[in-house]
Amino acid sequence: MTNAGESKTAMSSADSENPETRPSNFLRDQIAEDVRTKKFGDAVVQTRFPPEPNGYLHIGHAKAICIDFGLADEVGGKTNLRFDDTNPEKEEQEYVDAIQKDIRWLGFDWERLCFASDYFAQLYEWALQLIKAGKAYVDDLTAEEIRQHRGTLTEPGKDSPYRDRSVEENIDLLQRMKKGEFPDGSRVLRAKIDMASPNLNMRDPVMYRILHATHHRTGDEWCIYPMYDYAHGQSDSIEHVTHSMCSLEFADHQPLYRWFIDNLGIFPSQQIEFDRLNFTYTLLSKRKLLQLVQERYVSGWDDPRMPTLSGLRRRGFTSEAIRAVVTSLGASRTNVVQDIELLEHFQRDDLNHRARRAMAVLRPLKLVIDNYPPDQVEFVEVANNPEDPSAGTRQVPFSREVYIEQDDFREVPPPKYYRLSPGKEVRLRNAYFITAQSVVKDAAGNVVEVHCTYDPASRGGNSPDGRKVKSTIHWVSAAHALSAETRLYDKLFTKPDPGDVPEGGSFLDNLNPKSLEVLTDAKLEPSLAEVKVGESLQFERVGYFCLDPDSTGSKLVFNRTLPLKDSWAKIEKTTSGGGAAR
Ligand code: ATP
Ligand code: MG
Repeated sequence: MTNAGESKTAMSSADSENPETRPSNFLRDQIAEDVRTKKFGDAVVQTRFPPEPNGYLHIGHAKAICIDFGLADEVGGKTNLRFDDTNPEKEEQEYVDAIQKDIRWLGFDWERLCFASDYFAQLYEWALQLIKAGKAYVDDLTAEEIRQHRGTLTEPGKDSPYRDRSVEENIDLLQRMKKGEFPDGSRVLRAKIDMASPNLNMRDPVMYRILHATHHRTGDEWCIYPMYDYAHGQSDSIEHVTHSMCSLEFADHQPLYRWFIDNLGIFPSQQIEFDRLNFTYTLLSKRKLLQLVQERYVSGWDDPRMPTLSGLRRRGFTSEAIRAVVTSLGASRTNVVQDIELLEHFQRDDLNHRARRAMAVLRPLKLVIDNYPPDQVEFVEVANNPEDPSAGTRQVPFSREVYIEQDDFREVPPPKYYRLSPGKEVRLRNAYFITAQSVVKDAAGNVVEVHCTYDPASRGGNSPDGRKVKSTIHWVSAAHALSAETRLYDKLFTKPDPGDVPEGGSFLDNLNPKSLEVLTDAKLEPSLAEVKVGESLQFERVGYFCLDPDSTGSKLVFNRTLPLKDSWAKIEKTTSGGGAAR
């Protein structure tokens, strides 16, 4: 059976927790070095995770979280959760709440809960300080003019005609910007650095813009808002963040990060960049994820097809597996797109060890055992998890009529089809050998019932005469079955790179029209009445499933987390010449 492919490989979770075999991580080495050389004196290692509350966290954020919290933990350091809430137009309390829930679910807790908006007053004071030092000025150019003055990678920029305003005029204008005297977009505050710098971020970057918008925390108190680059490093500095780790796209911003800290003479937080996590068939741009939600291509941020932590959780992915895959990948300075099968492989590995087994038939076909006593019910003992004897056993009812999968019967079997067909004998898992005898068809000619006989001597699934059968199929007693809806998910996109579209196309063109299949009439063994929302199970021979929150007392809904087939193990086998143990 498929489980064999789920045996541990070199990259399994246990290894990643063993310091001797864990993947190299230059961030860990850097932190250790800084502690050794007392780069920050006797200050403890302090990190922060800085999400912008403009969407839900996704699997890429899980990497940043594991790095920020995990590496600090390893050296007895501390991690703040800081919301980078400098853009009131796109930020909402819903996101603030969801982000906290997801971090806790991943298994981390913060030292302090902080908001960049808590520092608005301090940031404003520092802006005045830079103006007084002749290092910032108010610019009246329009956004378009600023863009034109900025130059290109090959051409230097041009100074704004407002660049040499006096300190007094700059202070006056900034104060009046703050008071709300000017309309949105009419003026900005800029750092006075170098319009000819080869780094475009250093060409007099905007520090403040005017925006009459209501902020989710400060309300209408402010109508000027700091830009990310002006807020981030100083927020780090205020919190005495020693190691400010972020993804590689911020590398070009590091000189500016330093410039503000150096010119303000404040605590010298150090930014260090690492590779962004991405997977094939997966989109991690919050803007595009928001579009999927708003335009209803998915049911919400927690749709089980979404790469968000809330979507993965609802789908049945576990925090243990997500942490394990992220840890196994370590950190580097090169962005690589990982195969989505790697994530699936870690998830199967985790569930294979933990998920209780159950029998469920997704597309039922009735099987009548003609020589079984009509009113008899037997209970067969079944292991809850063959991988974990401590999970115990349970009693599953067996009777004359059972459901089997439609797929497990063929009236005319193709070559190498070893499951049930007329005259063939198979094993009903943990129960009896049965032989198909005849079928009942509906008016359209579809098989709606299979009649068979059983061998009473084969109870438990083995025949005393040593007779072999080629196939074992699962079943659910019809009289005892629960009905359920099952939701079968496939990849949300049809292409490994969802953004791969011809000129003028959209990532939406690559949406997989078959990413969700809903089956309404699955039959489940009765023990599943006790399952709790979010609990994971392995439906034997079918896949990993978990109970969806849409379930009610009268209706069970199960999400398929993953089918059993481990395509990663297969890929690994073909690429490494069968190196993985199985
Ligand atoms: P956007 O999609 O708008 O670029 P974002 O995903 O970068 O947004 P933030 O809230 O700014 O969102 O990210 C918070 C932190 O998570 C940052 O430190 C960022 O570097 C990190 N991060 C975001 N995406 C990834 C990713 N794919 N891999 C690793 N780290 C990431
Ligand atoms: Mg970003």
